[in-house]
Amino acid sequence: MNFKNVVRPSVLTQPKYEAGKPIEYVAREFGLKPEDILKMASNENPLGSSPKALAAAQEASGHLNYYPDSACFYLREKLSKKLGVKGSQLVFGNGSNEILELVAHVLLNDGDEIVTGRHSFIVYKLSALLMGAKCKEVEMPDLRHDFDAMLKAITQRTKAVFIANPNNPTGTVNTQKEIYDFVRSLPEHVTFCYDEAYREFEENPVDVLPLINEGRKVIAARTFSKIYGLAGLRCGYAYCSEEFADYLNRVREPFNVNSLAQAGALAALDDEAFLLESRRINLEGRRQFKAAFEELKLEHIVEGGNFVMVKVKNALEIFTALQKVGVIVRPNVGYGLPDWLRITIGKKEQNERCLKEFSKLL
Ligand SMILES: *Cc1c(COP(=O)(O)O)cnc(C)c1O
Repeated sequence: MNFKNVVRPSVLTQPKYEAGKPIEYVAREFGLKPEDILKMASNENPLGSSPKALAAAQEASGHLNYYPDSACFYLREKLSKKLGVKGSQLVFGNGSNEILELVAHVLLNDGDEIVTGRHSFIVYKLSALLMGAKCKEVEMPDLRHDFDAMLKAITQRTKAVFIANPNNPTGTVNTQKEIYDFVRSLPEHVTFCYDEAYREFEENPVDVLPLINEGRKVIAARTFSKIYGLAGLRCGYAYCSEEFADYLNRVREPFNVNSLAQAGALAALDDEAFLLESRRINLEGRRQFKAAFEELKLEHIVEGGNFVMVKVKNALEIFTALQKVGVIVRPNVGYGLPDWLRITIGKKEQNERCLKEFSKLL
């Protein structure tokens, strides 16, 4: 007896998300001590988490017998003020990954389509496929979003276009004008899903709220996993029209954001010092990697986000060899970029260690 005949067809062909390798796995596999391992694979914050967030989560751990607040009241109130939106325009998720999936649940029927870039965050595609929809992946010359090609890829069945800005994994950044022109030229039946996971690392990030206010079908997703250093807590959110937020809230699980995550995220928003320091070391790290790649004469993208991309001939060999010396980076085979390694920017000494080991392997 098996389940092949009874599961939904889209589940049979559904690919799995390949996560960055956890430290403990690499330690076991290569006989290393976990504390000697440097993980630069999943764009996590090398400074750890905001101490204020940790204290708040700890405090909340005294009340775990209670269900979390299904409405995320305090977080909603604070973010609504910070963003200048109504509380009812916000949706919270178990990481922004969940938000992306909720969008797919709300919009996509069997046979519908989404459009995204060929080298963009894989969760867009996974969410679409799971709903039985097709994912049209548009080529990205120079590893940048090609908005003209995206417009051409849109059909009557296209329900949504997903882009990340800065884009993951390429690290490329689009300007406000590019985004606005694109969104304003989308047909009425297409929703623009704007993923801002790395927004806080940018000096002048694009602001899509005016597009929402002028009535465009736009949803923007943010996360506490990156600059706020709370990837393990799982908290993300999105803002959009009240109407779309209401639909998203109908399909989410009632207690999708746990109490520790709500408390931690709320406190993190007040920790300006942690945010500024995270941004500062990231900018410093970008300069460090850029200088090193230039000296090594390697093609690279050091532009947006908290990670860099570098092109090498034997990326997978280097990836494996780096693990042996305790440095985990991210290969991009699954993203159609087999010659590129993505490296999360760390603290100065961490970047130095990574670059030293990396240079030896060229
Ligand atoms: C890391 C990341 C996210 C956020 O994921 P969480 O579920 O919030 O941890 C979303 N989009 C992109 C492009 C990312 O790189």
